[in-house]
Amino acid sequence: MDEYREKRKRLVERLRDEFGLSDDVVKAMIEVPRHLFVPPHYRGEAYNDYPLPIGHGQTISAPHMVAIMCNLLDLKRGMRVLEIGTGTGYHAAVVSRIVGDEGLVVTVERIAELAERAREVYQTLGYRNIRVVVGDGSRGYEEEAPYDRIYVTASAPKIPDKLLFQLKPGGKLLIPVGDFIQYLYIVEKDEYGQITKKNWGAVRFVPLVGEEGFED
Ligand code: SAM
Repeated sequence: MDEYREKRKRLVERLRDEFGLSDDVVKAMIEVPRHLFVPPHYRGEAYNDYPLPIGHGQTISAPHMVAIMCNLLDLKRGMRVLEIGTGTGYHAAVVSRIVGDEGLVVTVERIAELAERAREVYQTLGYRNIRVVVGDGSRGYEEEAPYDRIYVTASAPKIPDKLLFQLKPGGKLLIPVGDFIQYLYIVEKDEYGQITKKNWGAVRFVPLVGEEGFED
């Protein structure tokens, strides 16, 4: 048992009560040690519910945002999931616990140093169902497509077509869209390939930078 476990459990139980999290999300968030993903000098703040700087002008999202997104994704064991924006690797770690070893999480990060740090933490924790790719995730990741679920942890100017193509029929995509004012969209592709979009509400993310994102 790690020294932060009680603090983590208290935070996750509070989030469960506030947002009605599923048992799978609660279990995964209690299991994943967020303090090992944040920069060492922020460890003491890892179980406070706010974003933290992670270097390169980027942030790790607040725990409630990770919880809400995991809940909205309605993840199941064995699913193949694509994350755009690895950052520290924490969010993908939570998703990986829910999809289990029969599932796969592919996470794409444009900043090589962040990707490398995330890989090291996964190795330390023995998480083997996560593949970290360095590149421009605004184009998705064709090599492992199609995906049951795709989610983006940076805000895009519009929903990238390539992400829609790489989503399975029956799949879900979560993506923040906008510049100063951003909204989180829940996009669903039905069995016939028909797309529907729902606006979940206002959010605040760093920009998605790339071919189908914002300019650097
Ligand atoms: N999910 C992360 C975590 O748990 O720490 C937080 C992600 S942070 C809010 C957004 C990340 O998206 C940053 O690390 C940023 O470098 C990355 N990013 C921005 N544009 C990208 C792109 N086109 N492809 C891949 N990653 C991108």
